Amino acid sequence: MNQINSKEKKNEIINLILDLKKNGINDLDVLRVIETLPRFYFIEESIKSKANLNIALPIECGQTISQPLVVAFMTQALELNKKHRVLEIGTGSGYQTAVLSLLSRFVYTVERFKTLKTIAEEKLKKLEFKNIFLKHDDGGFGWESQAPFDRIIVTAAAPEIPNALIEQLTDNGIMIIPIGEDNDTQFLIKIKKNNKEIKSKKLIPVRFVPLLEGKKFS
Ligand code: SAH
Repeated sequence: MNQINSKEKKNEIINLILDLKKNGINDLDVLRVIETLPRFYFIEESIKSKANLNIALPIECGQTISQPLVVAFMTQALELNKKHRVLEIGTGSGYQTAVLSLLSRFVYTVERFKTLKTIAEEKLKKLEFKNIFLKHDDGGFGWESQAPFDRIIVTAAAPEIPNALIEQLTDNGIMIIPIGEDNDTQFLIKIKKNNKEIKSKKLIPVRFVPLLEGKKFS
């Protein structure tokens, strides 16, 4: 079945957008991107039918593609514009990466699983995204050779904010990161850097896979 044209799928997307609006997503650019970017491209064949539901889903390497509401919430909190250079830690499926790329100038994304990096890279290439650069590495160290970044988004939870990421944020930059232990309650934290001073604000409770140290070759 053609997922784009089916009436049922269109209704699912309308319901998803209504759900996002109900939950505080009011940035029209973010809503437009979520509405038009097909999430099913980034999901394994066997669960593609669930692509438009507002739920996290499993991807390869035991990781997850985040819930659309969380993707929308984090993207909205980043206050993006088309001049921004964005660093993403945790490419995963590449879905959040694609969302970011449609709202910014360049996206640099780091993934510790080579398999995930390779799959995401192929998909993003097929979809003709030209402003995304991918790297297989431990994202806890950021991407020093391309720093500084106007915006940083971390899509895996860390016990504390990695210093390297703070250093690679521009002055007036914004970082969104889930902080907390895996089994504890994690919170999304919004960090603003002004004149080297760091201000952080707790946003909402979340549940992310952990930000792990080292890069994995599988
Ligand atoms: N934004 C992704 C989320 C994937 S889950 C999506 O919606 O598809 C989080 C991702 O972070 C996983 O792919 C995991 O492998 C990756 N990750 C965990 N620790 C990492 C690290 N230290 N460096 C880079 N990526 C990491």
